[in-house]
Amino acid sequence: MQNKTTSKHSKDKNQEAINKLQGKKFVTDLNKWALLTIVKNSPLNTKYRKSLSCMHTIDFDHKSAISCHRRWCSICESKKMAKMIDKYLPQLEQKNKLYFVTLTAQTVGKNKLPQRLKDISEIWRAITKYNRIHLKQQFNGIRKLEITIAENNKYHAHLHILMDNHETALWLKSQWLKHWKKRTGNSRIANYKAQDIRKVTNAADALIELSKYVAKALNLDRETDKKGAKIIVTEQKKDWIYQCLMKGKIRTFSHFGDIKATKILAKELDQLETKKPKSFSSNTASWQKGVHNWASKEGELLGTNDLKKEKELFKSQYEHYEKTTKKETD
Ligand SMILES: [Zn+2]
Repeated sequence: MQNKTTSKHSKDKNQEAINKLQGKKFVTDLNKWALLTIVKNSPLNTKYRKSLSCMHTIDFDHKSAISCHRRWCSICESKKMAKMIDKYLPQLEQKNKLYFVTLTAQTVGKNKLPQRLKDISEIWRAITKYNRIHLKQQFNGIRKLEITIAENNKYHAHLHILMDNHETALWLKSQWLKHWKKRTGNSRIANYKAQDIRKVTNAADALIELSKYVAKALNLDRETDKKGAKIIVTEQKKDWIYQCLMKGKIRTFSHFGDIKATKILAKELDQLETKKPKSFSSNTASWQKGVHNWASKEGELLGTNDLKKEKELFKSQYEHYEKTTKKETD
């Protein structure tokens, strides 16, 4: 049986990590609640609801907790980001030079987003295949798709690429423009000036920039409306992005050339692993919705984070959550 000293010791050691995770769980749950209750009839609702149980139970003996691995979960997304940095940074740092390439096309309305994502994927595949088979230029790096919620009910889907050769980057840009023109018959869909190539001075910063969330909202949506009307718009748009990505089976990330998904280094990425344990030990704590904290079987609260900062930052979402949960328990 697990004795109290071991339990106490591991708790002390993990306190900072627990508090950080507590804040993250609070925020990500609010975001999931917003998706669930604001969007209401999304086909992804069951998945949003299920993912509320991400990190619900923490098992100290197995150092594990079950996580949801969903893109709308900021806990899982930041773990993914940490893993990406661990996987790719050593390889990217070995390159003499690195370039951050942004390839964009015009913003689109809601109904055109699925086709836009399909076009981007197909154009990328066509360009890389052509190089691999015919040109065999030095072309190594990683690629990430990002979709920004833009003004006027539009979506801006674009690619961020980190690569090691300036010549090939220029060639990539010209191919991107050529393919869009050929596909749409319109040279304004992807225009020369909107594409960007810049030299990277810090590989780690560039990698962090690249591995950010796939769906981003412009801050103005959140800040301008005190009554939360704009937030409704934002949540519905985020939901639409998740739907399009899932339905179109769109790959948001890939590596190419000599950049490989190496095994993660042995060093511990985080205090808690996210593998599902075969069975939970008796040394567990589970999340209590009302107090936004984990409680052990003895009723002891694990986190000491007062969540003041988080509640302030996500004020309108928190109020919405409180109102909704109250209604549910009435
Ligand atoms: Zn998760």
